[in-house]
Amino acid sequence: MGSDPQNAFSSKLDVPEALTFDDVLLRPKESRVEPDDAETRTRVSTNVSLTVPVLSAAMDTVTESEMAIAMARQGGLGVLHRSMDSEAMVEEVQRVKRADELFIRREDVVTASPGQTVEAVDTMMERSGISGAPVVDGDDRVLGIISGTDIRPYLGVGAEDPVSEAMTDEVITAREDVSAREALELMYDHKIERAPIVDEDDRLTGLVTMQGILQRRAYDAAARADDGSLRVGCAVGPFETERARAADAAGADVLFIDCAHAHNLDVIDSARSIRAEASADVVVGNVGTREAAEDLVDFADGLKVGIGPGSICTTRVVTGTGMPQITAIAEVADVASAHDVPVIADGGIRYSGDAIKAIAAGADAVMLGSYFAGTDEAPGRVVTMNGKRYKQYRGMGSVGAMRSGGGERYLREEEGEEDFVPEGVEAATPYKGSVESELHQLVGGMQAGMGYVGAENVPAFKTRSELIRVSSAGQQEGHPHDVVITDEAPNYSPEE
Ligand code: 5GP
Repeated sequence: MGSDPQNAFSSKLDVPEALTFDDVLLRPKESRVEPDDAETRTRVSTNVSLTVPVLSAAMDTVTESEMAIAMARQGGLGVLHRSMDSEAMVEEVQRVKRADELFIRREDVVTASPGQTVEAVDTMMERSGISGAPVVDGDDRVLGIISGTDIRPYLGVGAEDPVSEAMTDEVITAREDVSAREALELMYDHKIERAPIVDEDDRLTGLVTMQGILQRRAYDAAARADDGSLRVGCAVGPFETERARAADAAGADVLFIDCAHAHNLDVIDSARSIRAEASADVVVGNVGTREAAEDLVDFADGLKVGIGPGSICTTRVVTGTGMPQITAIAEVADVASAHDVPVIADGGIRYSGDAIKAIAAGADAVMLGSYFAGTDEAPGRVVTMNGKRYKQYRGMGSVGAMRSGGGERYLREEEGEEDFVPEGVEAATPYKGSVESELHQLVGGMQAGMGYVGAENVPAFKTRSELIRVSSAGQQEGHPHDVVITDEAPNYSPEE
C-alpha cells in the first residue's frame, strides 16, 4: 500500500486507469492484405454468424423491422427494440422472417376460381399488382394458372367468359422442398414466371416467382438462417419471460437480454432460466467488467459490453459509474474468449476506426445506435431545422422514451413520470440516406484497418492487432487540422 507517494493518503486513490477509443490506435504492421480482400465474417453468438460484424441498436429510434431487414440483407443484424407489446414484436419478427422468403405463403397468394369471369380476374390482378394467379377449386386443388397474357386484351376470350376457359391448365408445379436453384431451373426450362407450390394432394401451399428469387439473389452476402430467412434479434427485458417465449416461438434468431446492468444477480438468475428454455441464442448485457463476464460465461451465448459509452447516454454523469469502452471490452473479452463466447461492443462508436479498435480490443462484433439513427430505415421522420435535415434519436433511458412506455431498462419499480431519473437524452442526428451506404463506409473503413494490420479475417485480426496508447496531442493530430474542410467526406464529420 502507498507505494506511490502521491497517493500515500489513502489506498482508495491507488486507482487503475481505463481507456476508450480516442486513447488508442492500431499499430500498423507488415501486410499483403488489400482492404477488399479482408474477410469480415464473424460470430455474434454461439450459433449465429454474420457476414459483417455490425448490429443496429435495440432502440425505438433505430431498429424496427425495416432496419432489421436492411441490416440482415447487408450481412449484419438488427435487434428489434422492446418498446412495443409482445404481439407487435411477434409481427415485426415475422415481417423480417418473411421479407426474403423463397415462397409466397398460401395465405398471401392471390388465387382465382374457375367460375370467375375473365374481367373480374383482370381487375383483381390489377388491384393486387400481380400479373398472374393460380386457379384453385373449393378444396384448394390447383386446376390451372391464369396470367395477364392469357386474357389481355381478351384475345380469343370474352370479358364474361369463365376463367376455366381462358386459363392454362397444364400447370407446372413444384414441391415444398424445392430449392431456389431448382425452382429457377424449372421456370427457365418452361419459360414461366411463377410456379404454384403444392402438397402431395395437389393442394396449393404457396407460390414461387422468378422475380422473388432474383431479388433474393441480389443480396448474396445476407445474414440468413438455414431455412434462408433473414436473421433477426429481439431485445427482451431480463424479467420478461413471456416476451422471450413469444419472440423465440416467432423465430427470432437471437434474444438480447436488454439491461443497463447485467451484473445484477437477479438479472443473471432470470437470464439463466430464459436461456434454459429458449431455442434461440441468448446474448446477455450490458456488462463492462471481468467479474461480470465470469458470472455469465457458463450459460450466455454472447456478452454485450457497454456501461455508459453511448452517444445519448448520461449514465456516467448521473450515477458516477461506468467503464471506458476499450478497457471494458478488453476485460470482458479476456474471460469470454477463454470460454469461446462471442463479445459485442455496444455504444460510443462514432467512426469506422472506433469499430475496428473495438474488435482489436477483443470484440467479435459492434452495435451502433447514433450511426444508424439518421438513415431512411430508422423509425421516425426527417425534420428540417435551419435548412438542415435531421432525424430524432433518443436514449431509451430518456424522459421521452420512458414516457412512451420504453426505457424500462432504466426505470425503477412503481416509478411515476414525475419521479423519472433519466440516464439518457433526447436528440436529433443528421439525416444520412440509406443504411446500405452507411454500412458500406463503416465496413470499408474496418476492412482498411485490417489491411494496415495485415489480417485477412476477423479471428486473425483479433490475434495480430496491437493497440498503442496515444497522447492527447497524438489524438488531435489524427483529425484534420489547420485546414477548413470544404467538402464533407461520407465517413467523417468533425466532432461538435
Ligand atoms: P451509440 O451508438 O449511439 O453511441 O450508443 C447506442 C447504445 O447506447 C445502445 O445500444 C444502448 O446500449 C445504449 N443506450 C441507449 N439508450 C440509452 C440511455 O438512455 N442511457 C444509456 N446509459 N445508454 C443507452
